Amino acid sequence: MFDFNIDFGLNDNDIEEFREVIKSNEQFLCIRLVNHGGRCPQCGTFTKCVKEYKLHKIDHAVYIDRKSSIIYYARRFICPRCRKTFYEENPFSSEYTFLFLIRSIALSQL
Ligand SMILES: [Zn+2]
Repeated sequence: MFDFNIDFGLNDNDIEEFREVIKSNEQFLCIRLVNHGGRCPQCGTFTKCVKEYKLHKIDHAVYIDRKSSIIYYARRFICPRCRKTFYEENPFSSEYTFLFLIRSIALSQL
């Protein structure tokens, strides 16, 4: 098993919810981050106003005995000034982080 905090560089106060669910021999790691707010990329206004959550499923096939996925509840903010919507910053969106995660999980299986 891997440590979400270490693998993604998150602190305990960054994680609002983390659950591990196994269903039909498939493992789901469900995570939602704490709302730290975000700065509108269009006008620069800081906001914590949440418009919605989008569910992102990241598949990987590292576990030998079962399929597993990361379910990330991506928070979308809405700017109170210009109404632009944008995603919160998160460690799951970069390809590098994803590859790092795969490697971390693979090592933990040894
Ligand atoms: Zn704005």
